[in-house]
Parts: sequence; structure tokens; C-alpha cells
Amino acid sequence: MATDVPQHEKRKTARVGLTGGIASGKSTVADFFADLGVPVIDTDVIARDVVAKNRPALAEIAAAFGRALLARDGTLNRSMMREIVFADDKKRRQLEAILHPRIRDEAWRQVSESTSPYVIVVVPLLFQSPMKKEMDRILVVDCSVETQMRRLLMRDGETEEQARRMIAAQASREERLSLSDDIIVNEGSVEETRDRVSELHKCYLKMFA
Ligand code: ADP
Repeated sequence: MATDVPQHEKRKTARVGLTGGIASGKSTVADFFADLGVPVIDTDVIARDVVAKNRPALAEIAAAFGRALLARDGTLNRSMMREIVFADDKKRRQLEAILHPRIRDEAWRQVSESTSPYVIVVVPLLFQSPMKKEMDRILVVDCSVETQMRRLLMRDGETEEQARRMIAAQASREERLSLSDDIIVNEGSVEETRDRVSELHKCYLKMFA
């Protein structure tokens, strides 16, 4: 018999925001959660999708910043875009006004489709984003600046000066830690970090059951 009351109302999926400085180990941690079957929503991946060829955001960027930003094949010239916004704060905010609402909407759309008790939402610059207020929990991957530097030099072949500049452009370690609910100290071996992820996963399953 038909009824107005939903028979199997879906429980709300909790949002665990995962953040941390550059090269702190966010992707490493996210992969460990994924190995445990937890859906991972990565806002960097979404950010690339929203400016894909023929998407409305790309047309808006071309209208605001000039068609010279589009490569011959109609895709975004990312390095030119990066240079423009790095040098000019007003332009950076203008770009963010085009991108951020779309990234946020798409992230929450993906969460709404999930049937998992919780999902991991990776937001590298969470503390500069309004999304931080929309998380149920904030998990910070932490390591020392020296470790970040070492990993940046090794992973991306950055020079010491470039690495220092990239780290300085982000929220400080103290700022991130002050807003965290949970912390993964990623200074030891990757196996120790995997164990810590398993431990947190058990906590989150209980917390969000
Ligand atoms: P992020 O996503 O925060 O930028 P990554 O997860 O990509 O950081 O980690 C940065 C680099 O450091 C990668 O090359 C990764 O393999 C390495 N790495 C991460 N955690 C550890 C660890 N505990 N021990 C050694 N290397 C690590």
C-alpha cells in the first residue's frame, strides 16, 4: 500500500574534511581511507572537471579574463591562469568566485549520492574555504615544515626557495591544527600512517553509525 512516509529513509552521510599543508600526505591518507572502502571526494579533481572544455565555468573565465586564456583546442591554459592570479589578488578572487561555488555544489552533490556512513572530502585549502563550516569533522594531516620541504624537493623536484614560497602561501601549521578535530601525524613510516587511518576509520564508523 502506498504511504507518504518513506520506508527506508537514507541516513545522512557524514562529511569528514581532510586537509593539510602541501606534501603533508593528504593523498597518501586519502588512498588509505579508499582502501578501507570509504568514498573519497577530491575537490582538486572536481576543480579540473568544472573547467573542462565546453563547461559553463570555462566560458565565464574566458569572458572575464580574455579568450587568450583558452588554448587552441578550447581547453584552459592553466599555467597562464596561475600566473595571472598569482600576481593579482583581485583577479584571484574573481576566479575563485567563478570556481568555488561550482566546486562546492558538485562536492555536496556527490556526497548526497553516497550511501556510506561517512565520506572523506579532500580540500587542500580548507581553512580559506567556506566549506569548513559544512564539515561534520575536520581531519588534519600534519608534519613539520622540514618534512614538507624534503617531500616537495623529492616528489616535485622543487627548488628549496620554491618549496618555501609554496609553504608560506598556505595557512600555517598552527592555524590548521587549531581548527582540527582529529590529527594524523605523518612523520613516521607510511605503515604507521596506515594504522592510524584504520584506527580513525573505526572511530568514524562508531561516531557516524
Ligand atoms: P599531499 O597530497 O598532501 O600533497 P602526498 O600524499 O602526495 O602529499 O605526499 C607527498 C610525498 O611524500 C609523496 O611523494 C608521498 O609518497 C610521500 N610520503 C607521504 N607520506 C609519507 C611517509 N609517511 N613517509 C615517506 N614518504 C611519504
